[in-house]
Amino acid sequence: MHLIVDAHEDLAHNIQSFGRDYTRPVAETRRIEHGSAVVEHTGNTLFGFPEYQQGKITLIFATLFASPRRYQNDAWVKFSYNNTDEAHRLYRNQIDIYRRLIEEHPDKFDIIRTAPDLSLHLSKWQDTEDKHPRPTGMVLLMEGAEGIRSPEELEEWWDLGLRIIGPAWVGTRYCGGWHEPGPLTNEGRELLVAMAEYNFILDISHMDEEAALEALDIYKGALIASHSNAAALLPNSGTNRHLSDRMIRGIIERDGVIGIALFNAFLQTGWKKSDGREPITLAHVIAQIDHICQLAGDAYHAGIGSDFDGGFGLESVPRGIDTIADLQKLAPLLAEQGYTESDIAAILGKNFINHLNKNLPSL
Ligand SMILES: [Zn+2]
Repeated sequence: MHLIVDAHEDLAHNIQSFGRDYTRPVAETRRIEHGSAVVEHTGNTLFGFPEYQQGKITLIFATLFASPRRYQNDAWVKFSYNNTDEAHRLYRNQIDIYRRLIEEHPDKFDIIRTAPDLSLHLSKWQDTEDKHPRPTGMVLLMEGAEGIRSPEELEEWWDLGLRIIGPAWVGTRYCGGWHEPGPLTNEGRELLVAMAEYNFILDISHMDEEAALEALDIYKGALIASHSNAAALLPNSGTNRHLSDRMIRGIIERDGVIGIALFNAFLQTGWKKSDGREPITLAHVIAQIDHICQLAGDAYHAGIGSDFDGGFGLESVPRGIDTIADLQKLAPLLAEQGYTESDIAAILGKNFINHLNKNLPSL
């Protein structure tokens, strides 16, 4: 089995909002939440520590995420924000959530801040015997930069372990985003200049095309798209959430990696939860991966950014996926498409690992 890197998981948001305990097996969380408002709101979980082990999920990009109040008008309204100070509190609290998780379960989760941290972490996964549990490493990613009150605050966020920043979710004061198109603002340009001084990795996902294309031109640091799919395979989607081929080519030219999301509505235009899981298969995911590889002319720019538990659950993922461990099922399907073992290792994990190795600080 290959080591898997999942470049987008909203763990802290789910712990903060729904009290999910990701040290439990998936089946136990599903049993505890069965029939509850949590499942109605966000679906059945796909994550649990035993499943991380089983699927060799060695590394995840663990997000800090909160939504603006205008997109959250139900019982979970207290976990959304109305202004920058409220956003800051929610995002900052999620750092504490990850710290607590690691303090209480150092055998299960680990935080990766530097390239040496990453090497040490990967060494734990090197032996081929699966006797001992190995922690899943977490690189912290902020989705929607409204939690950063000003660029001066970046030093503090860096010291807290944050390494990847996506300026947008919907539109933010930094840039146009999902549902709310627009360019980078002047504040957004200032943020990018300040981010580059630390070599924060820029996450293009959720940025509107206009903002993303400018960022691809001007950002001096490294970049990725943590969880985005190719718009070319999603005709008439009516959303700006996907990547145009122009954006994909830009990310490839900048040596970035794109994590393909396994959300059914991002794999087939028009899919709705009421359609059921049947029509969407892992072949849709393979097609997305293949599209990136065809544009790149190699297998070094595609990865996985499942976005599981990112506002949707089991009900909204491709047939064949029951938990995170089933990401391993992508390997034989890639082989059927003609991908070599080393290409498959690259796509499932090595591409993001190499990118981090190059771009995390050396101490
Ligand atoms: Zn997202």
